Amino acid sequence: MNTSLRQLTTSANRISLLESMGLYTIEDVAMHIPYRYEQVEEIWPADESGKICVEGHVMSDARVNFFRGKMSRMSFDVDIKGETYAVTIFNRHFLRPKLLYGTLVTITGKMEGRRITAANVVLKSLDEQTGLHPVYSLKEGLTSKQFAVYVRKAMKFLHQDNNLPDLLPPDYKDKRGVRPKLEALEDAHFPHDVERLKRALTSLKYEEFLVFQLTMQYMRRQRESAVGHAKDIPVPEVNAFLKTLPYRLTDDQQEAVKAILKDLSRPTIMYRFLQGDVGSGKTVVAMLGLYMNYLAGYQGVLLAPTEVLAHQHYETLQKFFKDTDVSLGLLVGALSPKDKDAVRQAISRGEYDIIIGTHALFQDKVTYKRLGLIVTDEQHRFGVRQRKMMREKGDACDFLVMSATPIPRTLALALFGDMDVSTIHTMPGGRKKVITRYVKGRSMKPFLEDVESDLAAGGQMYVICPLIEDSEAISLKSATQVYQAMSKYFKGRYEVGLLHGGMKDEEKNAVMREFENNEIQILVSTTVIEVGIDVANADRMVIYDSDRFGLSQLHQLRGRIGRGDKQGVCYLLSNSKVPEAIDRLKYMETHSDGFEVSQYDLDLRGPGEVLGEKQSGLPTFIVGDVFKDFDILQWALEDATEIMNDYYKYGEYGTLVDYAAEKVRDGNAYMD
Ligand code: ADP
Ligand code: MG
Repeated sequence: MNTSLRQLTTSANRISLLESMGLYTIEDVAMHIPYRYEQVEEIWPADESGKICVEGHVMSDARVNFFRGKMSRMSFDVDIKGETYAVTIFNRHFLRPKLLYGTLVTITGKMEGRRITAANVVLKSLDEQTGLHPVYSLKEGLTSKQFAVYVRKAMKFLHQDNNLPDLLPPDYKDKRGVRPKLEALEDAHFPHDVERLKRALTSLKYEEFLVFQLTMQYMRRQRESAVGHAKDIPVPEVNAFLKTLPYRLTDDQQEAVKAILKDLSRPTIMYRFLQGDVGSGKTVVAMLGLYMNYLAGYQGVLLAPTEVLAHQHYETLQKFFKDTDVSLGLLVGALSPKDKDAVRQAISRGEYDIIIGTHALFQDKVTYKRLGLIVTDEQHRFGVRQRKMMREKGDACDFLVMSATPIPRTLALALFGDMDVSTIHTMPGGRKKVITRYVKGRSMKPFLEDVESDLAAGGQMYVICPLIEDSEAISLKSATQVYQAMSKYFKGRYEVGLLHGGMKDEEKNAVMREFENNEIQILVSTTVIEVGIDVANADRMVIYDSDRFGLSQLHQLRGRIGRGDKQGVCYLLSNSKVPEAIDRLKYMETHSDGFEVSQYDLDLRGPGEVLGEKQSGLPTFIVGDVFKDFDILQWALEDATEIMNDYYKYGEYGTLVDYAAEKVRDGNAYMD
């Protein structure tokens, strides 16, 4: 079957334009459904933004002025419901001959007083054009109208030869009210009514999610039957080491360590997701995993998302393993080429037992002696593809991913269905809850007294701002501005530092070290610190424009303070007047359990809030949206589980499972 784009157009330019949008086949074009639909409906009187859409009769000749050569401005009067208005529209002078006195037109645009600046004037009544108009996400050089022509052709082609396999089993189609794929596509591109359109979109999303869930389940089954290394771990030695720790593991930590021990000992591959609040003691669990892996005679890797964190982990591990024979290596991008080379060679000779590092650890030049376990910190910051590359470095390597974003179980299952989950719910004893206060406005005045006395008593403070560039949003305090204001205010009394995403790693490291050493008392920062910084003396946090953050993010941020024995206090500043936004911030005052917070966020605002927008490492979809279509994703999970069970029990649904298996072999299309 020839599905080449050449069947749609002979223009090489157009073909490369389509290809640049990731569309390579006729099926790709058909699957590129509109990202929204415009509905022509009367808007009259104008809405709060001044927008109108209304029909009227032309009441004057149209006057045209040309300017700057090709540009034109046309004005005419129009009668709308018995009153006269002046209309201006740009670059439509070619309509003039048709705008005769009395012509019925539909005008969309903006109105101010009796003046309308039209975005569009159509020589039709409103009735003639009400309906749904698809709007496609396209590259410049292609309009929605032109693209619709290609879609027409593509659909015709698919209809003709029945070229689009309809994968879904009839029972499941009935159960979910799903329409055949071709019909659903037809409705999505050329919609007639809203109800049918909704059903069509649901159908397409469901199919996409179902195939995704099937591939996750398939990977899981595959992993469970794959041959890994049954690591021989001397448990008495592990116990002896545990006795040397200055504390006892909490029940949840013990549970997680046991699960990891069991996984590592089994001849299958571990793929475990370890989640828990900031400060709940995940790192300790991960280090024990690395230690067990070491005792069994394997190398281990601890992967951090930033260089700052890699350094910090390196130091933590040095302390942790100081009385053992474990030798630690650090590989980060900032090393000189010569040093990097030396580290790489030491890795390949097996001189390092555990290597801590950043993305530099992925590079092709790094070969391991006997890699047995990879631990990643804050997993959703790593693309799944990178994880896969990393895994390929070791033969049947075990895998542990840690995340401090407490993801409600339902969400974790729906998105990371190929993993096992360990959760640390309880914090190590003795830690005080962070007191959280919502403060209206953008001023520190209401709590300045507390901040002053805390600093005077030797405390340190984080100040968090959501954005760095003024230009991104004028209303937001930029970190730089806040930094300058703080420096001025505390001048001669306390040192203020600035940390933001635009800084080089070395600069960030330097500032972090200064804060750690209490050479800086106040650290103004964008959310860089979100990822795992540990300064026990920091006990105050101020978050500007806190309504801009998801609650889970706020929770993670406040987890940075009060890690020592001091009482942490977090101030959530916000200028928002939106009652729901204020309620959300007030919720933070009374709730300190990260899972509760994230569940609340999930229920209230959907998974986008919980995970943060555009986190890499999340699956990517063509039609569906993990965040907006979470309920459909859950149907798909439920059904995929059933289908897989029936496949392995009775051999049913073979075609579907084969399809999923093929996707997995192709390298899993969902992941970037
Ligand atoms: P996470 O990685 O989950 O943010 P860490 O593993 O860094 O948390 O632990 C936070 C702090 O708590 C560290 O200083 C660690 O030494 C300490 N800690 C970890 N587990 C325990 C425990 N069971 N009892 C007391 N303190 C602990
Ligand atoms: Mg940590």
